[in-house]
Amino acid sequence: MAVQQSVIRVAARTARVVPLKRGDTVDVVNIEGGQVVDTWAFPAAGPAEEPFEYMSMEHSRIHHYRLMFRPGDVLITNRLRPILTFVEDHSPGVHDTLCPACCAESYRLYYGAEGHHANCSDNLAGAMGQRGRALPMVPTPWNLFMHTIVVRDSALEDHASEAKPGDHVRLRAEMDCLFAVSACPQDIIVINGDDGVPRDIELRVRPAAPEAG
Ligand SMILES: [Zn+2]
Repeated sequence: MAVQQSVIRVAARTARVVPLKRGDTVDVVNIEGGQVVDTWAFPAAGPAEEPFEYMSMEHSRIHHYRLMFRPGDVLITNRLRPILTFVEDHSPGVHDTLCPACCAESYRLYYGAEGHHANCSDNLAGAMGQRGRALPMVPTPWNLFMHTIVVRDSALEDHASEAKPGDHVRLRAEMDCLFAVSACPQDIIVINGDDGVPRDIELRVRPAAPEAG
């Protein structure tokens, strides 16, 4: 029997939270190419868990002793528990782990935006809030397809995402979790492509194969 796949379209500049069971996989698809996708995961267990637990870029980097992850790497929480496995990468393979999520203040401070600019931090808080989960802070996201790299003298440089239409990564849940993405609304600097136009993305979720026997 074919495994059911659900396809979820995430509109440009918005976020979505999807519950995953252990063993489920999700493909994060760059439908048109060039779009950065801020990605988070939180244990499904909820706020009774103390301290606040989340997929941690800081802990995952040290777990693998690398600045960027490769297929086969297991991403862990701030309590060192496996939460997602990076299963496959059908993209140029550059996925930033250093940049915090954009927020209203960052658009004002760094880019001179006036008033309120749509941003990944508010997107995440809103989408998690709809599921009854208030976040005490916004963890550093895994910025899929984001081409921010370390160059000489440890400086950082932003480049346009090199993701092509249809590029995707496949992730697998290692615990029941809430998986969250924000199609980054950044339209001032180059990260979402040379034309600076945020675009829709797609999630393709497949349930875990049933246990044999
Ligand atoms: Zn963003």
